[in-house]
Amino acid sequence: MKVLVIGSGGREHALCWSLKKSPLVERLFCAPGNGGIEDVAECVDIGAENIDEIISFCQKEDVGFVVVGPEGPLVLGLVDKLANAGIKSFGPSAAAAALEGSKGFMKDLCREYEIPTAAYQRFDNANAAKNYVATQTLPIVIKADGLAAGKGVIIAGTLSEANETIDEIFGGLFGGAGAEIVIEEFLEGEEASFFVLTDGEHILPLATAQDHKPVGDGDTGPNTGGMGAYSPAPVMTQAMIDTTIKKIIKPTVKAMKDRGIPFTGVLYAGLMITTDGPKLIEYNVRFGDPECQVLCARIDSDLLPALIATSNKGLADLTLQWRDETALVVVMAADGYPGSYEKNTLIQGLDEAAEIDDVLVYHAGTKRDGDTVLATGGRVLGITGMGKTVKQAQEKAYSGIETINWPQGFCRSDIGWRAVEREEKT
Ligand code: AMP
Repeated sequence: MKVLVIGSGGREHALCWSLKKSPLVERLFCAPGNGGIEDVAECVDIGAENIDEIISFCQKEDVGFVVVGPEGPLVLGLVDKLANAGIKSFGPSAAAAALEGSKGFMKDLCREYEIPTAAYQRFDNANAAKNYVATQTLPIVIKADGLAAGKGVIIAGTLSEANETIDEIFGGLFGGAGAEIVIEEFLEGEEASFFVLTDGEHILPLATAQDHKPVGDGDTGPNTGGMGAYSPAPVMTQAMIDTTIKKIIKPTVKAMKDRGIPFTGVLYAGLMITTDGPKLIEYNVRFGDPECQVLCARIDSDLLPALIATSNKGLADLTLQWRDETALVVVMAADGYPGSYEKNTLIQGLDEAAEIDDVLVYHAGTKRDGDTVLATGGRVLGITGMGKTVKQAQEKAYSGIETINWPQGFCRSDIGWRAVEREEKT
């Protein structure tokens, strides 16, 4: 079968790396891909949101299955349009992608199906929002309803900060994504992620992970797309996983089916582990980046049949084998990220890193220029280590980083610190 992966990040490099190993794959394409994906797939110069061109390419090449990486094309209806053209794909319909695309939609669904989540109200005007905030305890969480590139959540510590935030969002800070806002209770606890595949009816649990959003060591500084991650997340016990499946995941899959918009693809639950158990903070309707890198590193089975099964109600009888190890990815980013940064800087030492046992080098923002690799994005590389413990996986990942010569890049030096501390206590 010919398979096309959509996207250009580390997530898509990991997906291509996994899919390349499938005996079912006759040719693997990636649109648009990146400098590392070129090693495992044929990169096609089509943007991830250029839906018409993607469909024409699939028809011309007789692509049998499309794996959609990022949320943008999902929310734009890529999966629906592929289905109309008779092409099967991995990912939800545009209507089902509202689980990520509209926080209000997700929260209303939680309320109706009694899914544990922060208490909330939805607002479409500033005055009502401010009146509500005045009756609530602080800090309080204010969210733009729509997709805001991961920036649409503000935790306000004072009333004046909350009121200013409300004015800013309704004033257009996040464009159309802020036409409505959700105000919710601040949850205390440790965050973790849980991933499942679903075909709209059945689920196949994947694994837990934790990521590090802040740019600086000790989880300080501004938030980024993610500076590192590891899987499994030791904070999530089997009992917590069971509770999450029973109280959060299964009711969500049922709710979407009841609403006539069954969810297919990967459901990525962002959780807060509170003293009352796991509560849902948000849903993402695609794999996380960099969490996908650590999940793919741990999967020991052919991934393609599982992805295909999400599109044809075939998940009921499927299982995946997992490596009984931790995978930990450290993201290398360009100096200045998440602010502005230089592009087209030279990266050396990648082959040396990839030669180390139990080290995988995923590219996120790179391109090839002849024999050289240049950095083109903010987050540029994801160096992944495997180990029997989080500490060992961490050491492996950083041993890979040591071989890389990229003077204009940086990484955090403490990815996994919380899990390592937990490990050292037991
Ligand atoms: P979201 O985009 O909804 O995942 O929010 C981004 C980040 O904001 C989360 O990863 C949390 O760190 C934080 N956050 C969101 N909602 C809450 C909440 N109700 N209580 C505490 N922190 C939150």
